[in-house]
Amino acid sequence: MKRKRVVVLGATGSIGDSTLKVAHDIPERMEIVGLAANSNADKLAAAANKTRAKAICLVDERKIDILRSKLEYQPTIFVGANGLREIARLQDADMVLIAIVGTAGLHPALDAIESGKDLAVASKEILVMAGEAVTQAAEKRGVKILPVDSEHNAIFQCLDGRAAEVRRIILTASGGPFRETPAEHLAHVTVEEALKHPTWNMGPKITIDSATLFNKGLEMIEAHWLFGVGMDRVEVVIHPQSIVHSMVEFADGSTLAQLSYSNMCFPIQYAVTWPDRVANTLPPLDFSTLGKLEFEIPRYDDFPALNLARRAGETGGTLPAVMNAANEVAVAAFLNRKIHFPRIWQTVAEVMDRHRPVAHPSLDAILAADQWARAEATAAIGNK
Ligand code: NAD
Ligand code: MG
Repeated sequence: MKRKRVVVLGATGSIGDSTLKVAHDIPERMEIVGLAANSNADKLAAAANKTRAKAICLVDERKIDILRSKLEYQPTIFVGANGLREIARLQDADMVLIAIVGTAGLHPALDAIESGKDLAVASKEILVMAGEAVTQAAEKRGVKILPVDSEHNAIFQCLDGRAAEVRRIILTASGGPFRETPAEHLAHVTVEEALKHPTWNMGPKITIDSATLFNKGLEMIEAHWLFGVGMDRVEVVIHPQSIVHSMVEFADGSTLAQLSYSNMCFPIQYAVTWPDRVANTLPPLDFSTLGKLEFEIPRYDDFPALNLARRAGETGGTLPAVMNAANEVAVAAFLNRKIHFPRIWQTVAEVMDRHRPVAHPSLDAILAADQWARAEATAAIGNK
């Protein structure tokens, strides 16, 4: 079996860390040939020295001297946002894994598809923003899009190609740190409390999204595009233990689920080795200590992100990109302690209300809507 040669965009983040662990765990099946990061030159150099990736890319050009001084070998070095697009087209790579937070992975994703590489997608933002363009481009070019997001990876495993027979997709959500917090207290939660995720250890942006439930909202739209299932068939259930990673209910009333501990190495490995299952050193479930698995209905009124996302996904066009961009700005403002927690979804709702969606938008129209929403959200936050 040939080793898969993988380029990792977002190599210094939480998903990047897990991806390096997987590569280390299954070296006979996976080789890291490219690594890209935004600005953490030290960490990128360390990852490069460890994996001996043939090519690396640092987007922040000001840090390039630090990177060069720390390298113990001589890889090809790409720089800047254009460098990111070049490394996405790296020759002799089979797959590009996109783990960039936010929307900067969109152009590189399209470049990777165009140059015939399979895509492993952790960056849900790019599917929310441009799901139609990305999935159509992949279909046209005959390349695969493999989901890394744990819920979608679970659904992918349960579906096993049988999308036509699906009745419902049921995304599980941990509920985040405020699952049981009374609504009136949400205005007073701190950044530190919001960053304490009960079951997953992730980057700051997605951790805040898990607290507002925008993460699950984004994932509803992500599922819609990845699996070609209408938004009306995508549902959410709260599952505080994060052991069942999602479920698919089929036409005959049977429901399949995928279970494992909450460790992103599981979905990353499956995205790389699919359709094969490969032995590794990850711990399997220990049912003697697992205890109980619980399921409950989300608190839709107290966490409006889910209904906002449903509206965005059902309306489609540029509205999901607007929701995503406004949320990014609002999350950054919350992390910088400029706004209270509920202002995140209030800001998103205000910006969505002001948007006139364009149906079947071009990439330019999507990017324009994204920029518009960022400006609107920034203004909305400044006005309060
Ligand atoms: P993180 O903040 O830990 O890491 C982000 C990475 O993106 C870093 O390597 C950074 O260098 C890179 N990056 C940021 N801006 C960039 C830019 N403009 N150009 C190039 N690189 C840039 O984030 P994370 O938690 O690893 O999440 C990455 C993506 O994966 C997000 O889209 C997130 O929603 C998704 N995801 C993460 C998890 C998880 O467990 N962490 C689970 C599912 C999905
Ligand atoms: Mg997820």
